[in-house]
Amino acid sequence: MNVPFADLHSQYLTIREGIDEAIAAVIKTSSFIRGPFVQKFEEAFAQATGASHCVSCANGTDSLYIAMRALGVKAGDEVITTAHSWISSSETISQAGGTPVFCDTDGFSYTLDPQRIEDRITTRTVGIIPVHLYGQPADMDAIMAIARKHKLWVIEDCAQAHMARYKGQMVGSFGNAASYSFYPGKNLGAMGDAGALTTDDAALARRMAMLARHGGINKGEHEIEGINSRLDGLQAAILSVKLPHLPGWTQRRQQIARQYDALLGDVPSITTPATFPDREHVYHLYVIRHDRRDELARHLNARGIQTVINYPVALPFLPCYAHMGYQPEDFPNAYHNQSRILSIPIFPEMLDAQVQAVVAGIREFVGR
Ligand SMILES: *Cc1c(COP(=O)(O)O)cnc(C)c1O
Repeated sequence: MNVPFADLHSQYLTIREGIDEAIAAVIKTSSFIRGPFVQKFEEAFAQATGASHCVSCANGTDSLYIAMRALGVKAGDEVITTAHSWISSSETISQAGGTPVFCDTDGFSYTLDPQRIEDRITTRTVGIIPVHLYGQPADMDAIMAIARKHKLWVIEDCAQAHMARYKGQMVGSFGNAASYSFYPGKNLGAMGDAGALTTDDAALARRMAMLARHGGINKGEHEIEGINSRLDGLQAAILSVKLPHLPGWTQRRQQIARQYDALLGDVPSITTPATFPDREHVYHLYVIRHDRRDELARHLNARGIQTVINYPVALPFLPCYAHMGYQPEDFPNAYHNQSRILSIPIFPEMLDAQVQAVVAGIREFVGR
């Protein structure tokens, strides 16, 4: 049985009428840039996440950049982020004029290790960007306690964790601002690039909105220099149709994860994702670990089961950071994990038979 890594078209088919109508409505009113559809989605997303303000923008990468510019990052400022994530988490620190300072993951949750953050703080540190990687909330109580102690801002990278919860509280509501991606494959995905920021800080929301719109809230009034980072009307209308489905899609992801946990948890050579009673994982990705990861991936791929590695080289070891001269022992957990992690298929429309086919493929491999 073929099992794709994700299946965006089957999701579209479940909500086809709503999507087609939404697209037609945008075309009919030519509300392509900003306008009522964008405003409606911003309001709906703020409400869904419990934030006072939502500022939409062109993609999740821009949202991180905009948040840092709005928080005043300048040359020489150091920003701490996780050693294992997508490149956006660190490249935007440099784009904003700062210097990325990597901190290792904790060895079990794939998120920032709060025990190691204080070692990385210097007099130049201004903020922390925890990433709720794969949909697992980072340890926000510990991270926020460090941020308060050292007077640092926090931007939560929620690109993979829409509406995940930590101790019952939604991620994105702990730090000064939260950044979201609606890249098509994300838990809430547009049909193109899209992103947003949320915050409870009205002044910060205003600065972020200005930066995303050439430095002015009203056309022609450029209080500062900004960038052009807009959510377009088509994507906003599509996202508004999809948003009400997100809780159900998340539940299905969690149900599939429970099946994988049950069916793979007893395989000694496989490490399934950590679960915590007080953290609600939303399983953007279901990432297992195995010492012979590449062989396992080849075995599954030969059986028609698609897998992905998120991410095969931890950030400090990428060529673009080679000048920093990091060694494996500087980030032992990220280094250990990068050659062992494997993301196996998980998406809301996945059939139970597909889950079983993935499990059978893995069990066949480890049985040999
Ligand atoms: C997807 C992603 C981003 C960037 O989002 P884009 O919309 O692709 O720019 C940032 N951080 C993380 C952790 C992501 O997974």
